[in-house]
Amino acid sequence: MKEFSYRGFMLDSARHFIPMEDLRKLIAAARICGMNRMHWHLTDDQGWRIEIRKYPQLTAVGAFRGRSVFGEASRTENNSGFYTQEDIREIVRFAGENGMEVIPEIEIPGHASAMLAACPEAGCRRTAYGPEGEEKAGEPWQYAVKTSGGIFPNLLCAGKPEAVRLMEDILDEVMELFPSKMIHIGGDEAMKIHWRRCPDCRARMRREGLQSEDELQRSLVLEIGAYLAEKGRETIVWNDVLSGGTLPPHFIVQQWAQGEEATRVFLAGGGRVIHSDTRVMYFDYPYGRIDVKKIWQSPQIPDWAKGYEDQLLGTECPLWTERVTNLERASFLLFPRLAAVGLKASGAGNLPWEEFRSAVRNIENLIEETGLKGAPESYWEMTEEAAKADVQAEHDRIYSAEALVFEKKEIKLIKLEKTERLMEEIGIPEPLARQVGDYALRE
Ligand SMILES: [Zn+2]
Repeated sequence: MKEFSYRGFMLDSARHFIPMEDLRKLIAAARICGMNRMHWHLTDDQGWRIEIRKYPQLTAVGAFRGRSVFGEASRTENNSGFYTQEDIREIVRFAGENGMEVIPEIEIPGHASAMLAACPEAGCRRTAYGPEGEEKAGEPWQYAVKTSGGIFPNLLCAGKPEAVRLMEDILDEVMELFPSKMIHIGGDEAMKIHWRRCPDCRARMRREGLQSEDELQRSLVLEIGAYLAEKGRETIVWNDVLSGGTLPPHFIVQQWAQGEEATRVFLAGGGRVIHSDTRVMYFDYPYGRIDVKKIWQSPQIPDWAKGYEDQLLGTECPLWTERVTNLERASFLLFPRLAAVGLKASGAGNLPWEEFRSAVRNIENLIEETGLKGAPESYWEMTEEAAKADVQAEHDRIYSAEALVFEKKEIKLIKLEKTERLMEEIGIPEPLARQVGDYALRE
């Protein structure tokens, strides 16, 4: 068993705001689990949580939202709020005292609705096509802090120099606040419907000879990554970015879902990877899908990383908070699963199950001394029946009648995105393809 240098967990303060006191408690408990990195997801469609002095509107607009629908999760609890720069410094200091490095994530180009609600000029100029295929300047898109979950086409414009400058200005302040060498700039789930319609994005593609919007995303990431590298920082991105082509080895890729082949190519080119497989490490998923025993059973080195063990920095367990609105729920989902991952990351995964389980018990006892409570033992090794019931309960929480309405809209957009990609692939002329898409987008 290998001992990983990177033993991380991720907190999402965007979907639901995590109060300062709760952050301190979670960090202290994560330390007990052996974690040494906290990835802090600070911005998303549903909230911008970090004060940026140069752009006060980012928090004045982006940190607030009204009644929200994330399935049956609370409509009101911790929807709004942000961290002042003083707060951020305090968390970085507190985490440091607990042996934990804090890695901030400012997510682009997707998951940027809250950012664009505050700074709409950094979004795309959308251009629709008229019936004769002529270009028609579209209305500026109405950005808003989203009050439901999902994937949205609200992307930072890759073609406007002022949009790139906005991101660089933000990162300047982020670098002042976070001493960590690594900075995460997101890159997952970027639906490119707007990019396809934006004259500025298309102009950049022409200028750089890019064949697809995925290549455009890669180009944007290379540009921001170069900016960070100039200042001595390293850039982390979600593995989705690799669909536009591989990245140079000074990038770090966080592998979460699919695209393993591209990640392997990236490793072959000398890149480093953080392992966050949804099937074992996504702790917003119920215990019915990932119980403690499953973590114990899972291979420490995934197949796609075999042969490149030294470039696998370690593991990270994200806690996305669409349906995690308070400390009690966060503790239940994180602990003791994080303890199990910590044990494995430190090389203790070879222990027989009973010994592993009692090591987890010991850590959970220490966590409970801090006042937090993890899931009871009945969730650690679930029977098939109990697991099924737990997954069903989570399903019912997610798919409330209200949430289904939002999901329908999302599915429609995802289908459109796929259709447009397909039309591109089979060589349907752009104006015609866009016209079909515009027609489907109407209503
Ligand atoms: Zn654009």
